[in-house]
Amino acid sequence: MTDIKKVNLLGLSPDKLIEFFESIGEKKFRATQVIKWIHQKGAESFEEMTDVSKALRAKLEQICEIRGPEVVSQNISSDGTRKWIIRTEGGKNDCVETVLIPDGDRATLCVSSQVGCSLDCSFCSTGKQGFNRNLTPAEIIGQVWIAIKSFGPMDPNGPRRVTNVVMMGMGEPLMNFEPVVDAMILMMHDHAYGLSKRRVTLSTSGVVPKIYELVKRTDVSLAISLHAPNDALRNELVPINKKYPIAELIESCQHYLANLPDKRHITIEYTLMFGVNDNEEQAYELAELLKVLECKINLIPFNPFPHSGYEKPSNNRTRRFQRILADAGYTVTVRTTRGDDIDAACGQLVGDFHDKTRRSQKYIELREVNS
Ligand code: SAH
Ligand code: SF4
Repeated sequence: MTDIKKVNLLGLSPDKLIEFFESIGEKKFRATQVIKWIHQKGAESFEEMTDVSKALRAKLEQICEIRGPEVVSQNISSDGTRKWIIRTEGGKNDCVETVLIPDGDRATLCVSSQVGCSLDCSFCSTGKQGFNRNLTPAEIIGQVWIAIKSFGPMDPNGPRRVTNVVMMGMGEPLMNFEPVVDAMILMMHDHAYGLSKRRVTLSTSGVVPKIYELVKRTDVSLAISLHAPNDALRNELVPINKKYPIAELIESCQHYLANLPDKRHITIEYTLMFGVNDNEEQAYELAELLKVLECKINLIPFNPFPHSGYEKPSNNRTRRFQRILADAGYTVTVRTTRGDDIDAACGQLVGDFHDKTRRSQKYIELREVNS
C-alpha cells in the first residue's frame, strides 16, 4: 500500500483551513483551535492539542501533518542578527535564506518567496542564480514559525520575537502570488501572528498587473525596487521594466494607495551603485519623477558579491544623493548593513549555493572571458 500524502496544515490560510475541516466533516471552530495551536503556540503534533477531542486528534494524525521547512543552518551574528538557511522540498541545493534583524524594540524578519528568481536584475545575486522554483505557503510562513521558535517555546503572551516582516529575501513575491498572499494573510491574522498591515511589507521589482491584483486581496504595505530615475537606465538594471515601464509602475502604485482603507505611502527602494545610478543629476531626476507619488525613499548602498561588476558608492556620495532628495522634501533613509559577519545583507543570500546553478556558471564564465 502506498502512503497517502498528508496535508500540511502549516501553510493553510484561515479560510482554507475552515474549508479543510468542513471537507472532513468537522465544524468550523476546529480550524480556529488548530490555527492557534500551530501559529501561536508552535505545536508540531496533534497530540499537544489538548482542547481537541482524542478522536479528532487521532483522525488528524492519519491525514495531516504540521511540517516546518528543514533548517540547514542557523547563525547568530555578534550584532544579534539571526540567519537561517532553509532547504525546501525540491532537492539538495534548493535552499533559501531568512534573516531576522533586531533593532531596538523592533525585530524585522526578511522572508524569501522563491528559490532563485526569473527577473534577472543585473546587480542581484539571486537573479544570477536563475529561477529554480516557487516556495509553498508552508515554506513561506514556516520561515516566521522557525524564527519565533528559535527563541524557545512559543508563548502568545510573551514578548514578540518578530515585529515586522518584509518580503525582501530571495525571489520576486509577486511571481509566486497565491502562496505569498496566503502566507501574508496568516502573518496578519489575529488567530495566527497578528501583525499589523503596516508591519508586513511586500517588495516588488514591479510586476504591474499583480500590483492591481494584490490590493483586491490584502492591504499590506508596498515597497517598489526602483533603482533608476528613467526607463533607459532601469531597462538595463531591472529588465522587467521593458515590459512594465516606470509610468505604468507609478500608476499602479497610485491605484494601490488609493484603494487602501487607510492613508499610507509606498517605500521606494533604490540600490546605489557607484557611477551607475548615484550621481547628482540622477538624484534631481528621481526627485522630479516621484513628485506624483506619496512615498518615502530607502537608499541601499550596493552590497558587493563576487563577479557582480558593481561597486558601492562612498559614504560621501551616498550622503550627497540623500541630501538632494531630502532638500526636495522627501523622507530618505539609508539602509545600514547588518549581520556582516554572517553574510546576511541584501544580495548576499545563500552565497555557497549560487555557484552551482547554470546561469551563475555561465555568468562567471562570461566575466572571466571578458576580464
Ligand atoms: N524581488 C523583490 C524582493 C527581493 S530583493 C524585489 O526586487 O524587490 C530585496 C531588495 O534587495 C530589492 O530592493 C533589491 O533590489 C535589493 N538588492 C538585491 N541585490 C542587492 C545588492 N547586491 N545590494 C543591495 N541591494 C540589493
Ligand atoms: Fe529578483 Fe528582486 Fe533580485 Fe530582481 S532584485 S532578480 S526581482 S530577487
